Amino acid sequence: MDNIKTDFTDVNTLGEFGLIDRLTTGIENKHSSTIKGIGDDAAIIATGDNQCLAISTDMLVEGIHFDPMYSPLKHLGYKSIVVNLSDIYAMNAEPKQVTVSIALSSKYSVEAMDELYAGIKEACRIYNVDLIGGDTTSSTKGMIISVTAIGEVSPKEIAYRSGAKVGNIICVTGDLGAAYLGLQILEREKQIYMSNPGVQPDLEQQKYILERQLKPEARKDAIKFFKRNNIVPTSMIDLSDGLASDLMHICKASGVGAYLEEGKIPIKQEAQLMAIKFQMDPITTALNGGEDYELLFTIDEKDLERIRYMPDVYIIGEVTDKKDGIKLHTTGGNIHSLKAQGWNHFEEK
Ligand code: ADP
Ligand code: MG
Repeated sequence: MDNIKTDFTDVNTLGEFGLIDRLTTGIENKHSSTIKGIGDDAAIIATGDNQCLAISTDMLVEGIHFDPMYSPLKHLGYKSIVVNLSDIYAMNAEPKQVTVSIALSSKYSVEAMDELYAGIKEACRIYNVDLIGGDTTSSTKGMIISVTAIGEVSPKEIAYRSGAKVGNIICVTGDLGAAYLGLQILEREKQIYMSNPGVQPDLEQQKYILERQLKPEARKDAIKFFKRNNIVPTSMIDLSDGLASDLMHICKASGVGAYLEEGKIPIKQEAQLMAIKFQMDPITTALNGGEDYELLFTIDEKDLERIRYMPDVYIIGEVTDKKDGIKLHTTGGNIHSLKAQGWNHFEEK
């Protein structure tokens, strides 16, 4: 038992991505049907009939990814499905099935689990996916939810992280930063409640911001638009860690740089105002906040006209040469190198 931590290396020194890199070093795929293994939003498997499967797994852990004090279980169930479907859409694939595995402690009642499953079933209905199995077990502390999502995509429509080319246009759907701000509001109210349980939470009528955190949606509509308009993004990723960190994944995988226009990055006015209330720069919440579950993608210049008709999409920059790095052109006219400050899930809360 004492080989967990003593004079061994703390996982914090590597961070999440460093640890994944280290653990997966030397893994080679043995099967020609494994088209893409580790390193993208989902793995891609050939099925032999000119169709591929996209497969992705994500885990939500109590105390790290959610807090039952402010996450209604129905929303949590919904979110656990949506965040996995987001990874399937990020491959330009259509999700079809999910499996759901849960570990729970005895503090959860049957009625509480019914609530969680009401949210899971609601997401499966709205996103048209079948819940085909899973696993249920107990945990000594709290709840862990692990979902695997499976989608279908034709080989020529797959959007990897690795296909961005110099001169491509960088686009993002939706608006950024609100989910992070929602978390800040919930954390603030939790602290106030813990020190004075008589005080009613002041959620400031921030329905939109709170929903972005508690009940996000995945961009099913974007994938439909690409299909209808014969567009295949040259690269794509979903925004789970924050624009800066996720853009770096695309740049690293594609061997390119990027130039972003700060003024073009979509942030809702209510998120801007809330950021200022928290004494944060709104752009920081968009670049580093995370959990937006929007799609960040690049397109060939020839598709520019068609993408202009895409609802809720924003052109935020251009793919550049790797040697130029990843740069942000600020509204003040300065050029900054972008740094990722995404989540480090190993940090103690
Ligand atoms: P996302 O944020 O899109 O869910 P991650 O950053 O979690 O992606 O994962 C990046 C890649 O590393 C994915 O291909 C994922 O399947 C893989 N991966 C993550 N954890 C492990 C692990 N423990 N063992 C093997 N592969 C892993
Ligand atoms: Mg992803």
